[in-house]
Amino acid sequence: MQKVHSGQFEVAKVEGKELGVIAQSFSQTGWASCTVRLLRTFSWDAKERAFEIVDFNLEEKHELIAVCGPYATADAAAFNLDPEMDVGFPERDDYDGVLYLVHGQPAAANDRYQDAAGWIVLAGTGLKGEDRFVALALEKSNTQLVHFSLDNQQLDISLILPKQIYPIAACSELIDLPQIQIKTGLGDIEVAHAELRSMILQAIPARARDYSAPLIVDTWGFGTNVNQALVASVAKTAKELELEVLTIDKGWENIVGEWQPGPHFEDGMPGLAEITSRSGTRLGLWASLGNADPASSVALAHPDWLATWRGKTQVVSHRTSSLCMGHGPVIEYLSGQLANLANNGLTWLLHDFETISRCDSAIHDHPQGLGEDWAVRGWYRLLSEFRSRFENVWLENCWNGGRPLDLQMVGHHDTTIGDDFCDVRHNAVAKVGLGKYLPAHWCSSYMSDQNSLTLKSQLAIYAVGGPWILMGDIPNWSAEKLALAKRVMNVYRAWRPMFPTGSVRWASVSGWQADSRWRADQEVLPISFIHESGKELMACVVTNALEQREIRWHPAYKGAMVITNEFTGESRDYEESEIAAGITIPTDFAEGHLFAAVPKSTVEG
Ligand SMILES: [Zn+2]
Repeated sequence: MQKVHSGQFEVAKVEGKELGVIAQSFSQTGWASCTVRLLRTFSWDAKERAFEIVDFNLEEKHELIAVCGPYATADAAAFNLDPEMDVGFPERDDYDGVLYLVHGQPAAANDRYQDAAGWIVLAGTGLKGEDRFVALALEKSNTQLVHFSLDNQQLDISLILPKQIYPIAACSELIDLPQIQIKTGLGDIEVAHAELRSMILQAIPARARDYSAPLIVDTWGFGTNVNQALVASVAKTAKELELEVLTIDKGWENIVGEWQPGPHFEDGMPGLAEITSRSGTRLGLWASLGNADPASSVALAHPDWLATWRGKTQVVSHRTSSLCMGHGPVIEYLSGQLANLANNGLTWLLHDFETISRCDSAIHDHPQGLGEDWAVRGWYRLLSEFRSRFENVWLENCWNGGRPLDLQMVGHHDTTIGDDFCDVRHNAVAKVGLGKYLPAHWCSSYMSDQNSLTLKSQLAIYAVGGPWILMGDIPNWSAEKLALAKRVMNVYRAWRPMFPTGSVRWASVSGWQADSRWRADQEVLPISFIHESGKELMACVVTNALEQREIRWHPAYKGAMVITNEFTGESRDYEESEIAAGITIPTDFAEGHLFAAVPKSTVEG
């Protein structure tokens, strides 16, 4: 990469093409080898790929460029065709709005541009063979490029603002350039993960560092076809299951952009507040505050508030338009809408869709070239003012399935999802992927009715980390499913006080070899919540029967333990040598398993 002076800035050039203004640079000598580990969150643009962690070896004369931000999968695909390619929004008639891909294909292994979360670790060796690491986290949710190279034993990292979104001439109007927090030192990739984790933990708002991950039911299993009677019926089963929050997903609103209940909720907000309070749940609502239906009163009264890109209004999720959050009056409007909900019973806000608009309108408050940056500021201003005014409303980040991941996102929320698939297998991968960086009460996951799986397989993994969000047709669950769910929920309730001080990982198993990338399509998905005390809650879903009869699970704790099979209730003492030899899990039939392991030294009496 070349650095070329341009006014007050340096501009990055790769193979003669300008990428954009360099916002920050970091260099370190003495590296013999280095691997960059990227985390990829869920994107509907690459839904089969789902959540994954990918390693790239930095080779001399090769460059790796991580593309971070809300539209990263589509942006990286475009940049791989041509780094100067303009980015846009799809305009096909059949387009349902959750996809942003216009040019190219989602990044594959050999591509230079890779979409990634804003949390990255590098690990390698120094000239004397010592382990070295770098851990870095983006502070902001803007679209940003992180350029990596290793040449002549020098590691270079640059943060670049892509010129398609931040025109080079406009950057002089940026009040403060986005930055990355960097930690570096001696140690291997696990040390790097621990450092990154501590950076992220510090960004978590005080109230969200230690809370009991709730049990939530959400109406998305019914799609947008919701009404007051349906919510009342969901609430009835929620009461039976002793669920704690009931969120009404898309479909409750009058129309996207007008955040009041529609006529199908005949008793309005007071009716919803009463239904939830009678069922012992708190009222939660889905909202896509950054969107407005073209037919909504806000879009009709204020067409000038809509985000435009290259002269056109964007067609985004569910064929709505984007409201420009970089424009002051929009934030004032949304602030009023949110306050009205919070004053009428809202206690959990699940926000979704395009909360960060990409806008280059000339008639908004922001400099024309910096709409996305201003939108990030506007969005977080809206959330932080709302959070301080309504301390009892919790904020869940959904962002079209779980992005972006950066320090500001964490700083403005109480939990985030990692996967939008509502699928046991993908959720297991996302729980582990997020679990490397976030405590176990910060990784919400959606559970649907996956009737192709056994009941135990449908339920087991949701005991491990939270919040646990049920999205199935709970009023029509069988007595057997209700009974089994109650059993697993009791396990979840018993373990969740420990979630803030532990994390979810792959459980250690022998007798079967996982794919090194631990994909969602594997026959066996074993995940464990591991607490600092050595306690371990392990869920294992055998999705396809293996030829072999069994595998063995090895708890992380080395010592005597009491192990309970939470589906049978059987409990047994294991000596240290038996724990080391492993606990047998049958694999000759597809089934879910759930075990609690407690060190004998911590068992009272
Ligand atoms: Zn704008």
